Amino acid sequence: MLALAFMFSVSAAHAVWHSDEQAIMGTRVSVTLWHDDPAVAQRLAAQVMTEMRRIDNTYSPYKDSSDLSLMNREAPERSAANPLTISPEMTRLLDKALYYGRLTDGAFDITFASLARYYDYRAGTQPSDSQREQLLPAIDYRHVKLDKAAHTVYYTQPQVYVDLGGIAKGYAVDRAIALLHEAGVQHASVSAGGDSRVLGDRHGRPWVVGIKQPRGAEGVAIKVPLNDSAISTSGDYERFFIGAEGERIHHIINPRTGKSTDELASVSIIGPDGFDTDALSTSVFVLGAAKGLALIDKLPAFDAILITRAGKVAYSRGLAPPE
Ligand code: ADP
Ligand code: MG
Repeated sequence: MLALAFMFSVSAAHAVWHSDEQAIMGTRVSVTLWHDDPAVAQRLAAQVMTEMRRIDNTYSPYKDSSDLSLMNREAPERSAANPLTISPEMTRLLDKALYYGRLTDGAFDITFASLARYYDYRAGTQPSDSQREQLLPAIDYRHVKLDKAAHTVYYTQPQVYVDLGGIAKGYAVDRAIALLHEAGVQHASVSAGGDSRVLGDRHGRPWVVGIKQPRGAEGVAIKVPLNDSAISTSGDYERFFIGAEGERIHHIINPRTGKSTDELASVSIIGPDGFDTDALSTSVFVLGAAKGLALIDKLPAFDAILITRAGKVAYSRGLAPPE
């Protein structure tokens, strides 16, 4: 009995938080996990990074060799008679993305990039008027014909171009947490840019995820305590440039206009997994405060925190202070 107590205290003394952070998927990926064996902790953190790199290499639109790039080259050439075979994982991503296309009546639309691929936020350039006119009709998720059971796809419009940037990072943090959970980890936090998911608590205390101040100095606007959940934040401050008329041109695109939206500055969605919170944060950003909150209030598993461009904060019903 004594020996057992001694052994326990020795191993507990070794238990530490282990963290790593790397630049992957065009953003900062970080992992923090609690494990009583530092060598195992380090190996698990490395496995998370490897999985993040795999997801980036598979779904990046910027890599010619990615499955996504291959699909964008091939699927426009295919037809119902001769569809393109895709992986079960790509099938899941497309199925989820198309589900959110239907749920939001096209506010979330992975074909937004048919036109939006011609924005260059670093160079500060945007599509020309003729590109807009020509490519706007290609923005419609219904052009993507997915056969879930057969794992095949084709596009019904030659100019359709799919980008999974509104959903892939949320999926990635879910994969990382699943990997850690399967390895027996009970306390962990993983984030990829604005998408985070936490496993368990932070050893007796909740995890605290900060929602950035959308304007002015770097800083945290709101702190959200979380256990066993995901939070995704979409902002108009991450990738943007200022246009000729002083307007802020950013990376979240209204599929109806092909232009960036101008009501909200930040949308955070809290829910059980990143796959959904990521798609929903982009969706609510496009829908705006009224329609966006109405949508979240219909989904019992999800909550929202919005910051408008004017600096007003709004909460979904589940987070609203009692009246
Ligand atoms: P990030 O974490 O990169 O800031 P967000 O969750 O805020 O991502 O989503 C923004 C990304 O979603 C954009 O960079 C783009 O890849 C993609 N996106 C932009 N507009 C839409 C849209 N209407 N529907 C689906 N995806 C979109
Ligand atoms: Mg998102």
